[in-house]
Amino acid sequence: MSFRARLTIIYTGFFAIALILLGCGVYFSVRQSLYAGVQRDLWAATQQVRRIFSAGGLEPIRTPTGELRLFLRSEFIQIFNNPNLVAQVFRADGEMLDSTPNLGGRALLIPDEALSMSIDDVNTGFSIVREVDTTRIESLITPLVIDGNQQVVGFLQISRPLRDVDRTLGMLMGILVGGGAIAMLITAAGAALIAGRVLKPVDQITHTAQGIVHAEDLAQRVPVPEHHDELHRLIVTINDLLARLEALFTAQRRFVADVSHELRTPLAAMQGNLEILQRGGLEFPDIAAETVTDMRRETARLIRMVNDLLLLAQSEAYTQLQREPVELDTLLLEVYRELRPLAAEVGLHLGAEDQLTIRGDRDRLKQALLNLGVNALQYTPPGGRVTLGLERLNDMACLSVADTGVGIAAADLPHIFERFYRADRARTRHSGGAGLGLSIVKRVAEGHQGHATVASTVGQGSTFAIWLPIEVRDEG
Ligand code: ADP
Repeated sequence: MSFRARLTIIYTGFFAIALILLGCGVYFSVRQSLYAGVQRDLWAATQQVRRIFSAGGLEPIRTPTGELRLFLRSEFIQIFNNPNLVAQVFRADGEMLDSTPNLGGRALLIPDEALSMSIDDVNTGFSIVREVDTTRIESLITPLVIDGNQQVVGFLQISRPLRDVDRTLGMLMGILVGGGAIAMLITAAGAALIAGRVLKPVDQITHTAQGIVHAEDLAQRVPVPEHHDELHRLIVTINDLLARLEALFTAQRRFVADVSHELRTPLAAMQGNLEILQRGGLEFPDIAAETVTDMRRETARLIRMVNDLLLLAQSEAYTQLQREPVELDTLLLEVYRELRPLAAEVGLHLGAEDQLTIRGDRDRLKQALLNLGVNALQYTPPGGRVTLGLERLNDMACLSVADTGVGIAAADLPHIFERFYRADRARTRHSGGAGLGLSIVKRVAEGHQGHATVASTVGQGSTFAIWLPIEVRDEG
């Protein structure tokens, strides 16, 4: 069964329960008040007839045998005129003395149970509902007591047909059942409609997801609804997810393509060199030596590239980063010492050196700083200057490497931190870089919740910086 059908059934079911409870409540309270009304009518009529009796309409006569009998002095009961109510007077033995004319020919006797009533029952009476000629009739029987005579001399029975009550209750039941059924139908239709509308975006999501699966096209997006509701948020989230996945897959594909491309060049060079050796190059010591040197250089390049890739992969898994206190000033000094042997004819200097400690991964930070330092020395001609610095700016520690080297063209600057990006391919490939050094710097900075920046002017030099947040509790 579909989710929509289930929603409709559940909703209609709850509505039906509420409707049945309400219907029962209405029906039984109306029924209760109608029957109470009938009782009120019967008692009111009883009181009325009793008043007529006490005005002298009824006379007890003692028979010669000493028995007390009841006689009607006149046709008093005729004055009692209520078309809906029948009044009957019975002797104590159950014989009917008189009745109002509206009794017709109906045989409405006094029930046997009523005959046993005593004078104590004058105010409670005896009620009974009987069916006479398919009409239900309610009767109230009360004992008749003559003033000063503590004896039941007869019975008064007031009856009332329940036709109108039954008709009203029947009509009410009809309205409740019929109206309830119509209300349920409308509710079911409404629920189906609403469930359909609510689930439409879900259908669209499913449709789009299927489209993505079939076409393997992550560029598709789910149409965003106008209303800013829960579904809007869900769809925006799914679209964000798709965008992220798309970016990741694209990056991954490009990365694999780049890696293959980069690995192919040194491998092809080595294959070429091996062929030279195989075709007799070994017999010429000069050629053999040169070929082996070439091969060593290419192998070294391959090893460096694979190491860089490994480092990059590790940096991307942020969770692997250590979180230990790192004294940045000590670290900077260490990098300065390791770079000095490489400086040759370039002047290597220490600039501003604040004392700062952050929490982070010492080895990764050192690697990043070394990458910047090596680049600066590599792209700065003899006579130039490279300056390492550490400064605190607001809540950030700024590790900088500034050089007076060749600089980077404005067109290259936005891409400089991308993997395998080299500003000047011919020049740098010769110098052995694979274009991974700066992406490692960027990853390390981001892994520490910081970022890496560059400012450069062609012919004047470049300044690279790693910005790292300082935790307040580490300020010392
Ligand atoms: P590589 O291994 O080629 O040095 P990087 O990612 O470290 O790779 O650098 C990418 C490119 O950025 C380099 O090829 C170079 O063109 C440029 N570059 C990096 N540092 C500097 C610098 N200090 N001065 C000028 N160009 C630089």
